[in-house]
Amino acid sequence: MTEEILRVENLNKFYGDRHILHDINFTLHQGEVLTLLGPSGSGKSTLIRCLNGLEDFSSGAVYFKGEKINLTDKNWQEIRQKIGMVFQSYDLFPNLTVMENILLAPTKVQKRAKDQVAQDAEGLLKDVGLEKYADSYTRELSGGQKQRIAIVRALIMHPEVMLFDEVTASLDPEMVRGILQIMTKLSKEHHMTMIIVTHEMGFAEQIADQVLFLEDGHILENTPGKTFFAQPKTERARDFLESMDF
Ligand code: ADP
Ligand code: MG
Repeated sequence: MTEEILRVENLNKFYGDRHILHDINFTLHQGEVLTLLGPSGSGKSTLIRCLNGLEDFSSGAVYFKGEKINLTDKNWQEIRQKIGMVFQSYDLFPNLTVMENILLAPTKVQKRAKDQVAQDAEGLLKDVGLEKYADSYTRELSGGQKQRIAIVRALIMHPEVMLFDEVTASLDPEMVRGILQIMTKLSKEHHMTMIIVTHEMGFAEQIADQVLFLEDGHILENTPGKTFFAQPKTERARDFLESMDF
């Protein structure tokens, strides 16, 4: 077993008096890919957001490499840089160039030397096939290109785990494959530890070491990927896969 990266213990989340996440428990080790599946509204985004501090949770604990995350602690800002996140909406600055978007956080937050980060960025842009676009404004790019930049912007921070929340959901079908390939390469070649929320079931089956199947904020299954897709334990998961034509 490789090193533990994230551990979630009895996490509960309320919005007002609505109980959104119920006693969530799981562990993620270095190099593992966990896919988070479940119907719309089951709490996938809320869980992902709790893991990188965009949402506070009501009880329970999250550990990063054995260290308990406390959102009010000074060390949280440091830990947070190790947890990369990419969303469905790219949230790039439209009036900055691709390179300026990428350099912003590493130079301002991490105080890394601009020249060095720019060199890093060129390498990453090449990896995603966008080396020619460094000086373009992000508003000029297609959705698929913007999403690649959003991935580079997360990777430039040298994260130890990447969280992807439906990153292909708003893309044209012909853009989807390229993004899925980038995530596959990150896993297979760079052994990146990842949590992926996706509705692309073929991709999920290919990439998932572990599947968490969520419904109404409960984990119904925490199953090795191969087992989940071949033989889901619960009827609810079987129905879900069927509804996805899988
Ligand atoms: P999923 O990503 O699986 O579609 P979400 O995590 O977005 O699910 O939502 C889970 C539940 O939490 C839904 O019932 C949703 O309406 C509710 N919810 C999400 N965000 C908020 C919020 N900011 N305030 C109140 N309720 C919310
Ligand atoms: Mg969601």
